[in-house]
Amino acid sequence: MSQALSTDVLIVGGGVAGLWLNARLRAKGYATLLVERESLGGGQSVKSQGIIHGGAKYALHGALSGASEAIADMPRRWREALDGDGELDLSSVRLLSDAHYLWSPGTLAGNLTSFFASKAVRGRVDQVKGEQLPPALQHPKFKGKVYRLAELVVDVPSLIARLAELAGDSLLAADDIQPLHENGQLVGLRVDGRDIRAQRIVLSAGRGNADLLTSLNVAQPGQQLRPLHMVMVKGRTLKPLYAHCLGGGPKPRITVTSHPSADGEWVWYLGGDLAEADGVARDEAAQIDAARKELGQLLPWVDLSSAKFATLRVERAEPAQSGLVRPDNAFLSDQGPLLVGWPTKLALAPDFADRVLNSLERDGIRPADHDAPPDLPRPVIGRTAWETSF
Ligand code: FAD
Repeated sequence: MSQALSTDVLIVGGGVAGLWLNARLRAKGYATLLVERESLGGGQSVKSQGIIHGGAKYALHGALSGASEAIADMPRRWREALDGDGELDLSSVRLLSDAHYLWSPGTLAGNLTSFFASKAVRGRVDQVKGEQLPPALQHPKFKGKVYRLAELVVDVPSLIARLAELAGDSLLAADDIQPLHENGQLVGLRVDGRDIRAQRIVLSAGRGNADLLTSLNVAQPGQQLRPLHMVMVKGRTLKPLYAHCLGGGPKPRITVTSHPSADGEWVWYLGGDLAEADGVARDEAAQIDAARKELGQLLPWVDLSSAKFATLRVERAEPAQSGLVRPDNAFLSDQGPLLVGWPTKLALAPDFADRVLNSLERDGIRPADHDAPPDLPRPVIGRTAWETSF
């Protein structure tokens, strides 16, 4: 059997939530180990659009709610980290755009006019025109209104790579996880046959949390999965665009982000309403057709004749909510030595880490002495869908 280990905090799951938390804990002097079964970020994180929401999208149907206010601080915290001046040094992470845009293809519906005029939004949302428009919208045929949101878009692969660097020697590639009990108490995990004791165990395994809870014989918290059917478009004629295109309803008609591919072409990654219920019901060919139609209507000047299309099915994992309501905060359930959670958004990874740190603080969990870990098998970094699909 492999050598037994001990640590302060044992984290399961190396997506953005586990990796961000790991880096924060290490910066505070805690010993940590993080177990990843597949690839770092390869779950939802590298499949995300990388938008660091400040809450504006969620306030489209009215004033900002209390919950949206909680997310409002995230762009500042990320910006400071990206400037090398925040809670983590993320200065090597690529910023894809320092703004995300709201784009209304027609005239604004009445409720949106009042939204943009509302006090909560003023100062955070400015209308842009002419050369200030995103490159893909700078065309004589473009009609409509565009608002600049103070929300960033980060290149998630470079974020995951940096967080893996900050993890130092704490990463462990392993598959089988069993509870480690002593006198009826959970004292750690048996990971691929190796006993790892810890003061606290954090499950941040995205959709993997549900099975882990079952194997630990823990019933709560429940998990919900929200399926999406995203579309990727790759081509020479694409220019960068980071925008929610508004339809009639509270949800964006499409949300476009643009990602660089290794051969220098841009990949448009399309989510929003297109990727939700009706999109999930479509097969790949029908979903590509629907995306072509949307882009043809919204951006008729973009030549897509030689563009390549592909789709990606992925599920968002979140704490169970009645009616599949979208949670607006990171979620952490705290059960003695076992902490379980979902950030619910990449943008909320700092909030997830805060919640774990608050729980450690409250319970008086301090860094203790542990032997340095031996050389451990290290998980690889996840690849994006556009690297593997085209
Ligand atoms: P994950 O990234 O899924 O990581 C969980 C990790 O745990 C995985 O690496 C997995 O392999 C590992 N794991 C699972 N089970 C085990 C086990 N038993 N043992 C060991 N390891 C295990 N959020 C935003 O803020 N902005 C966006 O623009 C945005 N766009 C999105 C677009 C899409 C299409 C999707 C699907 C999500 C988007 N999100 C966005 C949400 C965001 O991606 C997620 O909230 C976030 O990435 C979740 O991070 P995580 O670390 O909890 O989970």
